[in-house]
Amino acid sequence: MYSCPDIPLVDLHRHMDGSVRVETILDLAKQHNLELPAYDLESLRPHVVITEKLDSLEASFPKFALMQKVLVDYDACRRITIENLEDAISEGIDYIELRFSPFFMGEIHDLDVMGVTSAVCEAWAEARDRLPVKSKLILIMSRTYGPESCEVELQAAIAHRDRGVVAVDLAGVESMGRGNVFVDHCRRAREAGLHLTIHAGEWSGAQSVRQAVLELEAERIGHAIGAANDPATMDLLGERGVGIESCPTSNVQFKMIPTFKDHPLPMWLDRGLLVSINTDDPGISGIDLPHEYRMVREEIGLTDDQVRQAQANGVKTAFLTDEEREALWAAKA
Ligand SMILES: [Zn+2]
Repeated sequence: MYSCPDIPLVDLHRHMDGSVRVETILDLAKQHNLELPAYDLESLRPHVVITEKLDSLEASFPKFALMQKVLVDYDACRRITIENLEDAISEGIDYIELRFSPFFMGEIHDLDVMGVTSAVCEAWAEARDRLPVKSKLILIMSRTYGPESCEVELQAAIAHRDRGVVAVDLAGVESMGRGNVFVDHCRRAREAGLHLTIHAGEWSGAQSVRQAVLELEAERIGHAIGAANDPATMDLLGERGVGIESCPTSNVQFKMIPTFKDHPLPMWLDRGLLVSINTDDPGISGIDLPHEYRMVREEIGLTDDQVRQAQANGVKTAFLTDEEREALWAAKA
């Protein structure tokens, strides 16, 4: 085992709509007569899963589109929620935060944002009592679609804050929505009692990370690769105790860094930053969380102590109440 068995295993950064099983894509497509590039598992898999580094971010869009395409109705949204939780259990995960963009999920088949969010929350609530994994939901405001659809997503998050949604995330293509457009969205999310995480420094520099922390007041940053060459920004993350949700394989596949050896994880850990290890879009990356723990040891070269630190950082920066966090630790004792 590459993770530490005495520390809760958590994944704080996983897109539910980027981790639809290939089997499920095939099954839903057959049920609803949807066109696919292939109709058996092995031929379909390379159309869904990344098999080598991508030339561009855009090269991944057809893969996301296949997952989006099979979300034909609210039942399909419920199904992938449950399956994501089942997958977390088979990976040995104790606690997972699943994030989703209801606008993205409903886009192709014209499902409404509130309806998708309700379906996901219903499935989550049903599974919470039945499945042996703790979980929370993060609702994405996708900057790719602009501030108006983010407003609708924000309203859905606020309406479901007592039904599993604990946070919002500003995600999507950074260049398509500058952070300053979303200051008000983020402020209102915080005022509504929701936590805030922001994808920043994926393909943009330290400035985007600084803005996420200083102007949008993010508690955690997704990726933050752009901060790795800027000591002042790393100091800022350290001083404010901002969590970094690191997703190593995704960072390499999407060419945020050239190779695993270039990953800033060891340097961030040495600086005492609250960086954790997560999966991003495991269904598209063709990975799971145990794989990422193997990568950080074998490819990035983290020591035992560094792995312990990163794993514990995940627990520390999870969007849990103090009571829930203690319960998570107690379950490992
Ligand atoms: Zn992400």
